[in-house]
Amino acid sequence: MAANRNMKSGNGLKVMIVVMLAIIVGLIVIIAKVSSDNKVERNNNTVINEPSQEPGVVTAAPATGDAVSTDAPLNTDGQPVTEVPATSAPTPVPPTAVPPSELKLVDYTGHVEHIFTHSLVAFPELAYPTDCSDVDKVKNTYFIDCITVPEFKKILDALYKDGYMLVNLNYVFEIDGNGVPQLKKSFKFPEGKKPLVFSFDDTNYYSAKMGRGMIDKLILIDGKVGTYTKHKDGTVVQGFDEEYIPILDRFVEEHPDFSFEGAKGMICVTGFDGILGYRTQRVSDGDGRTEADRQREIEAVKPIVQALKDTGWYFASHSYKHGVMERYSEANMEDCASKFYDEVIPLIGKTQIYVYPYGSWKRSSDGKTCPAVQRVLNSYGYKYFCSVGANWYAKNRSDLGSIILQDRANIDGTAFVWFQDIFSVVEGTNTPRFPSINFREFYDDARNIAYDDAVAAYKEWKGK
Ligand SMILES: [Zn+2]
Repeated sequence: MAANRNMKSGNGLKVMIVVMLAIIVGLIVIIAKVSSDNKVERNNNTVINEPSQEPGVVTAAPATGDAVSTDAPLNTDGQPVTEVPATSAPTPVPPTAVPPSELKLVDYTGHVEHIFTHSLVAFPELAYPTDCSDVDKVKNTYFIDCITVPEFKKILDALYKDGYMLVNLNYVFEIDGNGVPQLKKSFKFPEGKKPLVFSFDDTNYYSAKMGRGMIDKLILIDGKVGTYTKHKDGTVVQGFDEEYIPILDRFVEEHPDFSFEGAKGMICVTGFDGILGYRTQRVSDGDGRTEADRQREIEAVKPIVQALKDTGWYFASHSYKHGVMERYSEANMEDCASKFYDEVIPLIGKTQIYVYPYGSWKRSSDGKTCPAVQRVLNSYGYKYFCSVGANWYAKNRSDLGSIILQDRANIDGTAFVWFQDIFSVVEGTNTPRFPSINFREFYDDARNIAYDDAVAAYKEWKGK
């Protein structure tokens, strides 16, 4: 286990921490006396004992993605709640306080970057195995598809340093008089900034992934979107430092010029196992749920979706079933699309954006005729389709109907060990693309395999 893996404290430091905690506890007592109603300001991470445990007795929480001391009760506040000091300094980049209103808007005519990743690995000790070969370590889904909390924070710093500014994908295209989506040739954007779409696939917290290193679900904590995870030993971790949503929210608070008109990221969800950690999917035989259970989950997720939308997040369809589209029959595609329409759209609202699972889409057999499975999706109103590709690409594709197809560069384990060079320049040019992203430097050793060993193992696995 890598609990508190970033704590490098010796005994001296421990003594210092104890002294500091004593001072803090003393201060809290004073504050509590001044006003019993005043609550100590919320920190970024909260550990809660389940009611079955003795109030006030706190089990050390597994490490979150950053240096967190979770074994130091500060305040029980009459509740079985123990708050711990604010987790990490999220960014070494000095926050600029440039209010977006002070940025001069000019006509932007360049291309719009689009990158994506998945839910973050918040608890690496649960995601990354130690007792297997190097090749097996890098073949692990959480290694290939995911990044950790510290890696995500470093990526954000780098993107900010490179002048990127988040934009809502819906802002960069429009539907023309013929119902065809067109990338805007020019749009208003702050001078000197580069528009960036950041999307996040599979924000579902699938049942099968519970206890494997990701959070369990999104929740509201004092009206803000935070996270909830219950570990096997009963420990519950709630906070704002385990998933991309609260981390990016905080980053934008500190760097308002990282977000154009409040835009955050694009949340891509499937439907077969509910959304955002809530089992909102239709009840089926043998799944052990009742319709009342389902309705409770639906009611529980609604305010979270609303809070996300209110704070600049927006949604895209990532299909209902997360299958490989190239292998779908037309009937299967229709079943998939209609279930998403019936079960998920009522929760997230309408979207024209569709993100192909696995980046898999069906090619036209003759370069002209739209494949039947694609026609099904088009009939549900999707106009902007996103796939996966390390090189920048976005085009109208009349061979797929009246749509735009865009590739998104993956920011994940594969990029860390395999695509380092592709990210350095815009294809076919010398224009730096993400000059501040340094995968070797950002690599998190919590992946349990050294960077060079991971690169070698990945090459061996791919036979290159
Ligand atoms: Zn996916």
